[in-house]
Amino acid sequence: MNAFDVVIRLVYLAVATCFVLGLHLMNSPVTARRGNLLSAGAMAVAVAATVAVLVQAGGVQGWAWIALAAGAALGAGLGLLLARRVPMTAMPQLVSLFNAVGGGAAALIGVHDFVLRGSSLPVVLDVLIGGVTFSGSLVASGKLQGLVPSRPIVFPGARVLTVVLVLVMLVAAGLSLAGPGGAVALVALAVAALGFGVTMVTPIGGADMPVVISLLNAFTGTAVAMAGFALGNGVLITAGALVGASGAILTKLMADAMNRSITAIMAGGFGTGDSTGDQAPGTGVVRALSADDAAIQLAYASRVVVVPGYGLAAAQAQYQLRELAELLEGRGVNVAYAVHPVAGRMPGHMNVLLAEAGVPYDQLVELDAANAAMPQTDVALVVGANDVVNPAARRPGTAVSGMPIIDADRAKSVIVVKRSMGHGYAGIDNELYTAATTGMYFADAKKALAEITAAVKVLVG
Ligand code: NDP
Repeated sequence: MNAFDVVIRLVYLAVATCFVLGLHLMNSPVTARRGNLLSAGAMAVAVAATVAVLVQAGGVQGWAWIALAAGAALGAGLGLLLARRVPMTAMPQLVSLFNAVGGGAAALIGVHDFVLRGSSLPVVLDVLIGGVTFSGSLVASGKLQGLVPSRPIVFPGARVLTVVLVLVMLVAAGLSLAGPGGAVALVALAVAALGFGVTMVTPIGGADMPVVISLLNAFTGTAVAMAGFALGNGVLITAGALVGASGAILTKLMADAMNRSITAIMAGGFGTGDSTGDQAPGTGVVRALSADDAAIQLAYASRVVVVPGYGLAAAQAQYQLRELAELLEGRGVNVAYAVHPVAGRMPGHMNVLLAEAGVPYDQLVELDAANAAMPQTDVALVVGANDVVNPAARRPGTAVSGMPIIDADRAKSVIVVKRSMGHGYAGIDNELYTAATTGMYFADAKKALAEITAAVKVLVG
């Protein structure tokens, strides 16, 4: 090994260490930004080192340099533009799109390696996992963007087709590894993997969507790690393994939190597509509140639990929420935030939003703790949350059945802030809104919270 190789290996080692450290720093909202910067910086160094290796080996010449530079500039430019322009509420679909790009790139590396060196286990796994991730993530992104219906789509024979595609993938993978006819088998594998990605994600909706998104994230990491094996690039293996492992842990946590089985979700969204149109057994009467009504309830409460949901993010009302909470705390009200694991549109969405507004982390309580204290809670202030507080989850036969919810309906009283009686992501009615203890404040969350805050100020002088 010459001096150049030694330096490159040391750089890769340092980069891998930074990735691990970066991930560790993301454990806390206080250090997360630093962790992100460290990992991004390390990735830039890794790319530069890889280019240096290419130059040294003379592997890229003539037009290939132009293609490489143009591809890198286009990719980096597009990534930068999208990341800067995208609103926080559209982040999940962007992440899904990035997953698709990662999976697709890994699959192409597999194909390239097959052309150069023939079939191998990393090549086959790369094409398989990368293909599933590519098409699955595109469908997931379309569902989140509203381009594809977000409800579970099940057509006759869908599950049989899924089973057939799995069989084709297994047989094609075996044949590709076995030797002759490998190219045809690899093409069949790629087509079946792309098809499986689609049939895996289309029947998923409602409560299962977050689980499948983190699963696809884990797939992307695994596909990238396989690409690292195919290319013999250690840093790609490390980066892919870290994404794959953290994605897998997140998937397990989400599935447990949602009371879902990962296998059942992958096999076709069992238990998600059986919504019966769900007629809610609430009182049927909607009680609309004024700002003064809401202010009186909140200002004279001992304990208020805020339940944030997607609408808080959509309205970007986190700062108004914190202002109201601080005003109440100043009066001695005990304020806590009950964060549901799938509230919003991406894992940790509410945590990020509340941290952005400077809400102290120790005021965030998890689902079980929040529910245990709910009967002693005077007001559950539900801001833009719907599915995560829908009591229909406690009954079979709905799109959210089996999903643990925040028991806002068990608080002494409930104030719901949203614009209308409209549905949430799962697309079903919510009987919490017509419960006897619930008052509805119909407005955009930012406007509503500002009005309630003003009313509390007037009330308490
Ligand atoms: P929901 O999607 O169930 O409900 C959000 C509510 O916010 C809507 O009913 C809407 O009502 C209201 N809203 C929208 N805009 C505003 C606004 N500007 N001001 C006030 N209210 C507004 O959100 P939840 O957080 O309760 O649940 C999340 C759902 O998303 C779950 O079903 C989950 O499975 C799914 N999901 C979660 C992902 C994740 O990783 N966290 C990923 C993908 C899906 P109205 O229109 O009347 O205002």
